[in-house]
Amino acid sequence: MSESPLGSNIKVISFDVEGTLVTPDFSKGMWFECIPEYYGKKNKVPFEKAVRMLAAEYDRVGDGRLEWYDVRHWFKAFDLGDYHQALQRCLPRIRLYPESEAVLKALGRRYRMIVISASIREFLEYLVADIKQHFESVISTVTDYKELKTPELYARICHDLNISPSEVVQVGDNLQYDFVNPRAAGLQAVHLDRRGQRDGKLVVADLTEFCRLLPGDQPLC
Ligand SMILES: [Mg+2]
Repeated sequence: MSESPLGSNIKVISFDVEGTLVTPDFSKGMWFECIPEYYGKKNKVPFEKAVRMLAAEYDRVGDGRLEWYDVRHWFKAFDLGDYHQALQRCLPRIRLYPESEAVLKALGRRYRMIVISASIREFLEYLVADIKQHFESVISTVTDYKELKTPELYARICHDLNISPSEVVQVGDNLQYDFVNPRAAGLQAVHLDRRGQRDGKLVVADLTEFCRLLPGDQPLC
């Protein structure tokens, strides 16, 4: 097996969820179909127009702010009542990536595993429902800490879980939140680029590649 670019002291693997273990289908459905549909019906606006209007509102707030992630914020802002019905309608869209379960099973034999996701708890519980047994901790940074995945928050989570940052490797699809920020806090990190457009020693195109990047004499996957 070739030399791993990761340190040999890894004890914990921390996974992002959306775009990493679970496809974006659920989120896309929620933000760009279910919510615009509700909005369009209520305000008698054609669906396509509602999509454009809401997309502009989402962009105006932007993913650097907590409310962007919060379905309750948007249902309140658009005066749409209770979000649970829309949520129920979108739940069948939840899909794991094809390799997710096998990789979790293999890695769980050697590592402690956690989830650090910015998805709100209301979504996260459903997103990881089928794979929850693999994780000792499932953290929604937005719900549990009222924070995005900043370097300070990564440090705080390591402290709270009594883990040394250098013993953790974060894997996720967002370059800033899953790679740059954890590294700034002393964690190790691997960027998952499912488009396969970036290359580098710490970039992988799927989770099987990530698994093969980990140090060890025998590949787990
Ligand atoms: Mg993600």
